[in-house]
Amino acid sequence: MSKKRVPQVENAQRVKEIIHRLKKAYPEATKTALNFSNPLELLVATILSAQCTDERVNMVTAELFKKYRTAEDYARVPLAELERDIKPTGFYHNKARSIQAAARKLVEEFGGRVPQSMEELLTLPGVARKTANVVLGNAFGIASGIVVDTHVLRLSQRLGLTQHTDRDKVEQDLMAIIPKREWITFPHRLIEHGRRICKARKPLCPECVLADLCPSWKEFYPTMTFTSPSAK
Ligand code: SF4
Repeated sequence: MSKKRVPQVENAQRVKEIIHRLKKAYPEATKTALNFSNPLELLVATILSAQCTDERVNMVTAELFKKYRTAEDYARVPLAELERDIKPTGFYHNKARSIQAAARKLVEEFGGRVPQSMEELLTLPGVARKTANVVLGNAFGIASGIVVDTHVLRLSQRLGLTQHTDRDKVEQDLMAIIPKREWITFPHRLIEHGRRICKARKPLCPECVLADLCPSWKEFYPTMTFTSPSAK
């Protein structure tokens, strides 16, 4: 990663201001875009969302959740049938195996229910910290960590909130500087900003409410100057 220029505002103050401006810009972005009506559905939808858009997952789960109501349903179905049912989300062999293995563990060790702790969720096959954080934060309102998906990873690096590329280390960096009360909503707002403005290939820095707080805009727009944006 290229060297970042020193932020113009002290880091703690800068982080506070980033949170404030994202809240103002995306007041509605407080939860996952995945559709679900219970923790099991969210667990399945999150596993399906790997390498797939939320829109496509929602299209698939609209039918899937009518057919599979309980962990037992996923545990008992022939694997090939589950694969067919989730095929449009891609990587369906692995995803079907993960869902079925997780469902069997839920049935055998958790009474068919999704557990409510990071430690227990991480024992489920196919569940890493990102999935566990999505489920805990969105289905139970429990802040055990911060969701680090591809947008959160990219924006955290661009904003100089971390120098790491490993997602678990990025999460640790974010947990150290983001107040715990913001752990659930902060990634959703960052994701929204990543989708609309701080895009992967060409971020729209001239339209960004964080430009004067961001050490990276100069890499993308070397000839431009940004002014304070309190006015934005
Ligand atoms: S200024 Fe540019 S690089 Fe920085 S957060 Fe905004 S869009 Fe992303």
